[in-house]
Amino acid sequence: MKYVSTRGGVKPTSFCDILLEGLAPDGGLFLPEEYPRIDRATLDQWRTLSYAQLAFAVVSLFIDDIPLNDLSKIVYKTYTPQTFRFARRSETAKDITPVIKLEEGLYLQELSNGPTLAFKDMAMQLLGNLFEYVLNKRKDSLNILGATSGDTGSAAEYAMLGKRNVNVFMLSPQKGMSPFQAAQMYSLRDPNIFNIAVSGNFDSAQDVVKAVSDDAGFKKLYKIGAVNSINWARVMAQVIYYFFGYFRATKSNDERVSFAVPSGNLGNICAGHIARMMGLPIKNLILATNENDVLDEFFRTGVYRPRADQEVHKTSSPSMDISKASNFERFIFDLVGRDAELVKVLWTKIKKGDSFNLSQHSCWGTISQFGIISGSSNHADRLETIRLVFEMYGQVIDPHTADAMKVALEYWRPSMTTVVLETAQPAKFEEVIEDALGVVPSRPKELEGIEKLPKWAIMAKPTSHVIKRIIRNRLG
Ligand SMILES: *Cc1c(COP(=O)(O)O)cnc(C)c1O
Repeated sequence: MKYVSTRGGVKPTSFCDILLEGLAPDGGLFLPEEYPRIDRATLDQWRTLSYAQLAFAVVSLFIDDIPLNDLSKIVYKTYTPQTFRFARRSETAKDITPVIKLEEGLYLQELSNGPTLAFKDMAMQLLGNLFEYVLNKRKDSLNILGATSGDTGSAAEYAMLGKRNVNVFMLSPQKGMSPFQAAQMYSLRDPNIFNIAVSGNFDSAQDVVKAVSDDAGFKKLYKIGAVNSINWARVMAQVIYYFFGYFRATKSNDERVSFAVPSGNLGNICAGHIARMMGLPIKNLILATNENDVLDEFFRTGVYRPRADQEVHKTSSPSMDISKASNFERFIFDLVGRDAELVKVLWTKIKKGDSFNLSQHSCWGTISQFGIISGSSNHADRLETIRLVFEMYGQVIDPHTADAMKVALEYWRPSMTTVVLETAQPAKFEEVIEDALGVVPSRPKELEGIEKLPKWAIMAKPTSHVIKRIIRNRLG
């Protein structure tokens, strides 16, 4: 299996050589040269596998440059009920992503039972173990530099914890994270984790990360890398749970299932698209946005219009507050029949701050074959949906999951089996739940009172001069 860039400027490359990369050198995103196809006999075989077994079966189709024996060790040590221990019902933790039946034809798949209670752990935990393995083999090391508004940064830190050849320098805004999110990150005290709390907001943190990473000399000297959602291995790891969710929500491989996905940067639903291209019987992928509805707009009109930073709404499902969707280019590459020249033209427009419109392009006539349908949700919808799901099914869901549920219910009929992906636990967003239900959601015992733990963070101004000095000092 070799990987190519959505902009066509890279010769086919092996998995381990793209693992540590974000963008492809030509500015595009990596995708497999072609998607592996799963036939009916394989689906039948996979139906009864455990999560880790299934994970190994899926990733071994995408990785052919790690010996299978080593790969299986990596996968088996990643997907354990100890790491993914925060299941609603502890006896289901062995499923890693347990699927709950809400009623006939409607399911909730728990993707947020990992250490940080958000679905980013699903991919980041595997990424941490893959990084460690490949860096060890190469006797190399890496310094991950990133900015976070909450979920990504903590998922990266918990994935890299204790890994000797990886350091994490994570910038976060001093104000803006929930107390729970701040406590999760700043209570870590591991010699390879450096939390840098910057004055200003998330955008200024992100800008300075970009400025430091754009300094090619510094980047090379200090082996600066990233773990953002465009990393191919993260998308790959997310393909696994679509298969698992499908098997748990059906009795036979004759059935088709729809998945509802709360979407931001599109890493999650892009993995669903790939699972569908591989032959998993997915009827629709239901793309849900919050008030930041860039993508709902695209699927309704064919117009992709990234928003200016000041146009981004700060919402009560903050992990979906995006101005543009960084994985969208992967989907467009497939939609336009893998015409890299066209992708290049489209993203040249985007880079200039323009939009593009595909409604007159021949590919628009084929879009229904991709099965994506969309909708959006707002704060009032979110609260109402949290209430509804609690009253109808006795389950408390988080605001992001509520966005997906709201849109899913607009399309749902009992004959259209639908799995709603739960991307965070309600405990992470207590204030919204309290607004909706009048009570604070319960949280795993182990995490009670974490807000009171001592906090460790380097306070800094968000300038590249200051951040570079911190990195230099810590690395000696
Ligand atoms: C990151 C995140 C999302 C959005 O996922 P994408 O892969 O960026 O589309 C949704 N919900 C939660 C809780 C998240 O952390």
